[in-house]
Amino acid sequence: MNPVTFHAPQAHAEALRLAARDGAAYIAGGTNLIDLMKEGVMRPASLVDINSLPLDTIAPTEQGGLLLGATARNADTAYHPLVRSGYPLLSAAILAGASPQIRNMASDGGNLLQRTRCHYFYDIAVPCNKRVPGSGCSAIGGLTRQHAILGASEHCIATHPSDMCVALAALGAVVHASSEQGERRIDFTDFHRLPGANPERDNTLLPGELITAIELPPAGQFAAHSAYLKLRDRASYAFALVSVAAALDIGPDGTVRAARVALGGVAHKPWRVPAAEDALLGKQPASAAFEACAELLLAGARGHGQNDFKIPMARRAVVRALGQAAAGTIDNMHAAPASAGKEPL
Ligand SMILES: Cc1cc2nc3c(=O)[nH]c(=O)nc-3n(C[C@H](O)[C@H](O)[C@H](O)COP(=O)(O)OP(=O)(O)OC[C@H]3O[C@@H](n4cnc5c(N)ncnc54)[C@H](O)[C@@H]3O)c2cc1C
Ligand code: SF4
Repeated sequence: MNPVTFHAPQAHAEALRLAARDGAAYIAGGTNLIDLMKEGVMRPASLVDINSLPLDTIAPTEQGGLLLGATARNADTAYHPLVRSGYPLLSAAILAGASPQIRNMASDGGNLLQRTRCHYFYDIAVPCNKRVPGSGCSAIGGLTRQHAILGASEHCIATHPSDMCVALAALGAVVHASSEQGERRIDFTDFHRLPGANPERDNTLLPGELITAIELPPAGQFAAHSAYLKLRDRASYAFALVSVAAALDIGPDGTVRAARVALGGVAHKPWRVPAAEDALLGKQPASAAFEACAELLLAGARGHGQNDFKIPMARRAVVRALGQAAAGTIDNMHAAPASAGKEPL
């Protein structure tokens, strides 16, 4: 690992000033960044530790939503009583990821910024446009089991690996960001980007910009009917081949009043298609409507040989997740400790 200067600022303005320097990177839980530094994939000149900043609270907003501080831990978020009651979809998605130890360390802001799990991105001996722009893409024509079927480009076919982000996309979250130039809010659907000709850029955050919080809008309408379905190679401790965050608002007449569906593991960002969600409106929550929704979500999907299976798998997963959501929110938090807080190791 290259030598690196470590800063632990106590004040927000100091953190922004230090991060504005060339080669600086923020560090929160370090569960992704330290691995990348060990492999030589990322070589920051300095680290700005944000764990002393007061960014770890989870609190209701005046609008009836919830603000998740950037350094709130994934475990604390998943087990927070207001998240469990109002946003069970988010709890389920977080708990479907990683391991208890990692969720205890991983921060909410860091989860959004975790890098792809493409094998070639981690192997500095081979070309990768995301790691070294213009060097080529080793995945195209190579091992593609994990790779994208939607929104890819000739420069990169990587996927975004987060589970939490799939639920945040479905829930319509907003990212709060801060820099020496000021504060701004970024709609979750605009936060991550498709690779296009610049796969080195995962998201629309500017250099030195700090995520301070993630805002969840009021979402009581979806609390009773949501599901996170994650399909992967092992039952635990594996990234999604395909995942689905599904949320329905079902009216008194039994038809769908509002719907949200996001796919994970299939693109460079959580994948939402408004027309696919609109196709469910006014319909009985049953197979015919779910299948029509899945067709629209997967429109234009293209495999790369080894990952062709993801297309039919994603279609079936959408239908299954919507069925689970319609039946009622699944409590897949059976491993939860009795009170909010750190998970047992
Ligand atoms: C073995 C293993 C298995 C995993 N499995 C899963 C899984 O199944 N599903 C899943 O979703 N995730 C999984 N993860 C990923 C894990 O969730 C992420 O590593 C974690 O969320 C990153 O958070 P962190 O706080 O540790 O980030 P760090 O490693 O500290 O930082 C990650 C990146 O974010 C930047 N950063 C951090 N905080 C901020 C901020 N507030 N503002 C601006 N920049 C910031 C850093 O500069 C760095 O570039 C796994 C990780 C490991 C190691
Ligand atoms: S898919 Fe993207 S991350 Fe993977 S080798 Fe190609 S350019 Fe790199």
